[in-house]
Formats: sequence, structure tokens, C-alpha cells
Amino acid sequence: MTDGPSYGFDTLQIHAGARPDPATGARQTPIYQTTAYVFRDADHAAALFNLQEVGFIYSRLTNPTVAVLQERIATLEGGAGAVCCSSGHAAQIMALFPLMQPGCNIVASTRLYGGTITQFAQTIKRFGWSATFVDTDDLDAVAGAIDDNTRAVFCESICNPGGYVTDIRALADITEAAQIPLIVDNTAATPYLCRPFEHGASLVVHSTTKYLTGNGTVTGGCVVDSGTFDWSATDKFPSLSQPEPAYHGLKFHETFGPLAFTFHGIAIGLRDLGMTMNPQAAHYTLMGTETLSLRMQRHVENAEKLAAWLEADDRVDYVTYAGLPSSPYYERAKAQYPKGAGGLFTFAVKGGYDACVKLVNALEIFSHVANLGDARSLIIHAASTTHRQLTPEQQEAAGAGPNVVRLSVGIENIEDLIGDLDQALAQACS
Ligand SMILES: *Cc1c(COP(=O)(O)O)cnc(C)c1O
Repeated sequence: MTDGPSYGFDTLQIHAGARPDPATGARQTPIYQTTAYVFRDADHAAALFNLQEVGFIYSRLTNPTVAVLQERIATLEGGAGAVCCSSGHAAQIMALFPLMQPGCNIVASTRLYGGTITQFAQTIKRFGWSATFVDTDDLDAVAGAIDDNTRAVFCESICNPGGYVTDIRALADITEAAQIPLIVDNTAATPYLCRPFEHGASLVVHSTTKYLTGNGTVTGGCVVDSGTFDWSATDKFPSLSQPEPAYHGLKFHETFGPLAFTFHGIAIGLRDLGMTMNPQAAHYTLMGTETLSLRMQRHVENAEKLAAWLEADDRVDYVTYAGLPSSPYYERAKAQYPKGAGGLFTFAVKGGYDACVKLVNALEIFSHVANLGDARSLIIHAASTTHRQLTPEQQEAAGAGPNVVRLSVGIENIEDLIGDLDQALAQACS
């Protein structure tokens, strides 16, 4: 498709990045199931390896199917470029890698996906990096946690699982003053509900495993760059602003401008970390993106109805969904996400841990799985699964106490979803 900045989201989610296959005319993007690409001649090969020409060398770095997905997600987010990788967790490392050095830190929200808290609290220490966790509603605490070695602030747009909505604009004001990027994990909102760059974020990460694919088939991740952060304004980001020895002293920011972060992600990140998305996964995710807006509309509609039904039920203690007027984040969600607050929420079952375990066992349509963002409805008891490695304090802070279950509301008939929860709650609370 030619550049059409005026096309709407529903058009772009089908067409952005793609064109009929130049070799065959195939209308759907082919799965380029190949590891390597034939060079035209030795000069062509040399130009590719020197980053003087953009093209395909080897599928650890770039692949035409993956490239279509990268361009599509970048377009949907309103970014300059994107790099896909093997999972959402890979995307987080890929986002931090160009920014960090041993001794550097990030300031991260306490309200994050459980696996992200573990990755940031434990694993990144092996690289000599660290994370300081703060309540991102306490803006003074966020600003106070930033020191000379801080290289980014990290948050989720809609937080999984707590029904919490981050005030992205307020955090962006702080990161702009500190001259560091704000990284937003936009997995739960998707660019259909929220475009963090419009609220001042510099980088977006996705687990494409979730709504972007939307059918629970493949893991994947993506780092999207707004292209607007000035990597050369300070000496904090030498990987992007200073000469790169492995490419004959090339300076990424000077050479590639708004695509510096994206090129670095491919030429250094994928080259050396190897967290590559494979073309099959890109194909499944491309299929998913074609219907993203339609699915998100139904996810939101079903979540709103189900949350209201549960909130009115005696067997339920409380529901945390930013789309409910009872939520402390209702107004913020309406302002930031006018199309709805997503398809995820938690509720607390009277009867606590034991009732939650009975509930997940009794459900017929909802599957008890450690995933979200599938077309089918999912439930998980976080305290006994995804958030099990966390301390009780971390569990509570993440909105995943022992009496709490998380729903990822699917796109089935709402009457069937209510009926299923009704019968399972009857068994759990008997
Ligand atoms: C699932 C998820 C991740 C991790 O993604 P993977 O694809 O499982 O590696 C990160 N952040 C959020 C919000 C998620 O839901």
C-alpha cells in the first residue's frame, strides 16, 4: 500500500506494510520461509553488511514476512519503526538493551505483568542493570526515583491484572524533564484503544502473543519507536549517539535519525541477542491484526457487561475494571481510552482462595490458562499461578491477592459467558 496517512485504523490494520507479492501477485503476504537471501553480487552484499543499503541478509536480522508485521504495528501505533522479536519478554530486553549499560537502572511501575516484575527485579541484575519500583500514581515518587544512572521509566498502559490505568501524559512530563524515554507496554490496550505516543511516550513494547495475534497460537513481541526522542541531547545513550565499533564507527542517531532505535534493534539487538520472530509467527500475527478493531470492540462490550453483572452479584466482593463507574480510574480511562478500557479485569470472590480454585475448576467456557487476549474467554487465579513467585506484598500491589481471579473476556455471546460464570460461582460458593 502507498503511504496513506489519512487512512483509518480499520483500513491500516489490513493493509499497512503489505502489498501484493512482487514475484507472484499473491494478495496475502506470503510466509517467506527462508533463512537466507541471495546477494545480487559482492558489492550488494558489502553494502548490506555495512548498513549502506537496506535489504535482506539472514532471517535472524530481517525477513520479509516479519518486516510487513513490523511496518503494520509501527503504523497502527503511529511510530517511526518497529522491531519484532520472539516474545513480549524479549521485546522488553530489546527495548532496554540500546539504553542500558552495567550500573544503569530503570524506574518501573509496581503495577506490571507478573513475569515482567520478575524479569526486572531479578533477571536484569545479571546484566548489571537494576529496576526501582514505584507507585506511578505518586508522581513525586517517580521523579524522586530517577537518578543520574536512570535510562528509562517503564509502565503498562492498562495494567494486567489490576484494573489500573497509568496516566501516561503525567509520566511523560517527568521523563521529558529528565531527558530519558518513557517506555509503555501497550499489550493490554492495543493501539486500537490507546496510542501511547499521542500521550508522550517514546517507546512502546508489545507482547504480540495477546490481542494483536488474538487467537492464542504464537508467542511474539514488538518494540515500536516513536522516532521523536533525541538520543544525542545528552551523553546518556552512547549506543545510539556515539560511534559503533562493530560498524566502522557509524553513529546510529546521526546516520538514521528517527529510525536510529529501530536500526540498532535489528543491526545490534537481533544480530547479537538473536531473539528473532520467525515468519510463521509473523504470519499468524498478521492474520490477527486484520480484525483487531472488531475484536477489541467486542472484547470491550463483553467486558463491560460482564463486569457490571459480577459487581451486582452477592457472591462477588468487588470488581476492578476501569470501565466501571465504581473504579477510581474510570475518569482517567474515559479520557485516555474513549473506545473502552479493554477486556481484562479482576474480581474478588467471597470465600477466598478455596472458592477461587473451585470456580476455575467449575467453568466450562472459560479456560484456566496463563494467557490473555485470546478470542476465547480465559480465567486465571493469579496467586496460585502467574503471580506465585511474588511475595504477598508484591501480589497485593499487583492486584493479585489470593481471593482474586482475572478474566480475559473473549468475544463469545455475552449470555453464554454470564451463564457460565453464574453456574461456576454457584458451585464455588456452595
Ligand atoms: C504476556 C505479557 C508480557 C510477556 O509477553 P510474552 O509474549 O508472554 O513473553 C508482557 N507484558 C504484558 C502486559 C503481558 O500481558
